Amino acid sequence: MSRDLLLKGGRIVDPSQGLDTIGDVLLRDGKVEACGGAIGTPDGAEVVDVSGLVVAPGLIDVHVHLREPGREDVETVATGAHSAVAGGFTGVCAMPNTKPVTDNQATVGFVKRQGETAGFARVYPYGAISLGQKGETLAEFGEMVAAGAVAFSDDGKPVESAHLMRTALEYARAFNVPVAEHCEDMTLARGGSMNEGLMSAKLGLKGIPAEAEEIYVIRDILLAKRTGGHIHLCHLSTKGSVELVRWGKERGINVTAEVCSHHISLTEAAVEGYNTNAKMNPPLRTQEDVEALQQGVADGTIDLLVTDHAPHHYDEKEREFADAPNGIVGLETALGVNCTYLLKPGIISLAQMIDAMSCKPAKVFHLPGGTLARGSVGDVTVFDPARTWTCDPKQFKSKGRNTPYGGHTFNGQALLTVVGGRVVYRAN
Ligand SMILES: [Zn+2]
Ligand SMILES: [Zn+2]
Repeated sequence: MSRDLLLKGGRIVDPSQGLDTIGDVLLRDGKVEACGGAIGTPDGAEVVDVSGLVVAPGLIDVHVHLREPGREDVETVATGAHSAVAGGFTGVCAMPNTKPVTDNQATVGFVKRQGETAGFARVYPYGAISLGQKGETLAEFGEMVAAGAVAFSDDGKPVESAHLMRTALEYARAFNVPVAEHCEDMTLARGGSMNEGLMSAKLGLKGIPAEAEEIYVIRDILLAKRTGGHIHLCHLSTKGSVELVRWGKERGINVTAEVCSHHISLTEAAVEGYNTNAKMNPPLRTQEDVEALQQGVADGTIDLLVTDHAPHHYDEKEREFADAPNGIVGLETALGVNCTYLLKPGIISLAQMIDAMSCKPAKVFHLPGGTLARGSVGDVTVFDPARTWTCDPKQFKSKGRNTPYGGHTFNGQALLTVVGGRVVYRAN
């Protein structure tokens, strides 16, 4: 039996209980024993003074790439889960575009066990929608759910066949799990490497138009309407996508959506100078898109804030812009980005940020956590929303160093991360 842990005198912000109060949180046997008010110190308990800090239900990121199996040189489940807790995340959902693809019971079980062995953040595997992510044959959803898969996705690419997506939504509905789509019409994106617009013309790079994303957004919303299945739209990047999700939600369609921290904080201008650390898919868009995404988070059209954590090997990002891989290391900067770009300017409140980073991810993906209610899992993030720090990629726990935020100064940092009542990360 582990020692009791008493977090003393923090500002407890738990939107799941409508709570914003100064008080204590007691964790016992991996669970929340008590939350709020002044709690006496049990014999032998470890006491941590968290006065002046925010105590929130542990952050959950439903969209990360941990690269294992297959690219352990880039990231492992263990290093990814370590990176997660350093960023304040107590749970992460691992995308299945591994080598081999996580499309069967054995691989799902392997990823889950690697997470348990590492003992940092909880790792929830995705299962692939199609075998080998080839877009042809539906994978065995039932077996993967039994092994611990919490959702299905072919992320990295879209499900090109509307019929296959329809069938996936119907099958997933039987297991009450979401189907997550990477929205990209490849025939329109045509191998583009940044947003299509004035900047791509100036840099002479092939662009990806907004419609490449939006065509899939509306297709999938319509398929969710037809099937009653739960479509979850990954990493939306355009103003039009936000409007389409709003359209779907107004009609009661079972659609949820996420945005990445980089899409609410950076524009295509970051690509200037052919900066491959600003190369992502979907690409960074315009200021108008950034503002629409921020507004979507503020009004609840966008449900979740995610990272799309995508570590790459140094050499691979050193290639020419058009040939470099997409994505950035996200887990250790997300809280700082969201505090700096959404919270500080008053676009969203502290409760809204915690809701989008913890309560709603747990609710939408049916995961443990997202609450500090008595008896729930003892996953807690303690952070200072105002603390200033400068991003130094060399300090990342992730094996990846690819970030456009190196040298950036943020407000907001995770200071203590607790998983199952056990301190798994403590900032210096
Ligand atoms: Zn994707
Ligand atoms: Zn992704």
